[in-house]
Amino acid sequence: MSEIATNIAVKLIQRASVTPEDGGCQNYIESLLAPLGFVRTSVDAGGVTNSIYVRPGELKGTLAYAGHTDVVPTGPVEQWPHPPFAGTIENGLLHGRGAQDMKAGIACWIAAVADLCGEYTPLPTIQLLITSDEEGDSIDGTIRIVEQLQENDNLPDAVIVGEPSSFKHVGDTIRRGRRGVVQVKASFHGKQGHSAYPQDADNAIHHAAPALASIAAIDWGIPIDGFPPTSCQITNVNGGTGATNVIPGSCEALIDIRYNPGNNFNGIKSAIETVCADCDVTLEFDHSAIAFSTPDGPFLDLVSAGIKRVTGINTVRDTGGGTSDGRFLAAAGVPVAELGLTNSTIHQIGECVAVRELVMLTKIYIDIIENFEV
Ligand SMILES: [Zn+2]
Repeated sequence: MSEIATNIAVKLIQRASVTPEDGGCQNYIESLLAPLGFVRTSVDAGGVTNSIYVRPGELKGTLAYAGHTDVVPTGPVEQWPHPPFAGTIENGLLHGRGAQDMKAGIACWIAAVADLCGEYTPLPTIQLLITSDEEGDSIDGTIRIVEQLQENDNLPDAVIVGEPSSFKHVGDTIRRGRRGVVQVKASFHGKQGHSAYPQDADNAIHHAAPALASIAAIDWGIPIDGFPPTSCQITNVNGGTGATNVIPGSCEALIDIRYNPGNNFNGIKSAIETVCADCDVTLEFDHSAIAFSTPDGPFLDLVSAGIKRVTGINTVRDTGGGTSDGRFLAAAGVPVAELGLTNSTIHQIGECVAVRELVMLTKIYIDIIENFEV
């Protein structure tokens, strides 16, 4: 069983697929899944390869696994201890781009399904939702897959996202949600002039400073759900010509907000517009990631119990990290748990993973699939 996951991981790493390239990974996955009874639907969009693989189940309910075959660029290849697309195994470590994030994770899920199909275990309907646009813009990736599932009324009952969630040991941490992201560009307007003749000018910085202070002081309320509170950071302020004696006619600020699911985009937008109401300012808002949170309940309990049975670990239900494709499924109302390998070398030169982690993760995935019920 462990060898199956490792062999698949090696073959996926050898298919170089720097985002948004797929490198033939999803065809290879199809060749593994088709004999197990999976049917593939391609949802390619905008140069991105997306696939939905479905195996109709003998039991009620649909359990999905979401992941990506694209990887981040290697950086200087000569600095890698082993070639990044060779999939070298040495001293119990599998080396290569995508070893942790997240080709080996996908390999573990496929190995888990293959193991269960070999045992003729009755299974729920299983979906694999695989994109090649997670590390890039995420514009034509999982979001297109979710649209397709919604159109055909095929949304799963729950989804495991295979991102490397674990900290020191496989299963010590799962992610049950992420904060959302709103980015704001504020352009304050005035009239440039000589600093000795302020009556003929209008100082844009004098408009910006109190408005930015008010924005920084906004009370975002009590955070919910064990998430960190909403954070509103003014990350850039640019105004002035460089000359001491020129009153600036414009001032620009960038603001980055990481919001708790107790807040939402419209509420954030109107709070900022309200404190800027008396100001000559143009505000541009970008809701670059929606917050999501899977509440405590049967699905997270199933995942925690599976980890406990296989590893003995009491897993932490975390909400940290940046954004994740889980947000697109969560926005469609699907309970999401991110559970994958450790993440100590993701995106680094020399990305690698311990082969024994693949054994553990495959066992955990088997336990979760076997015990899944709706
Ligand atoms: Zn990833």
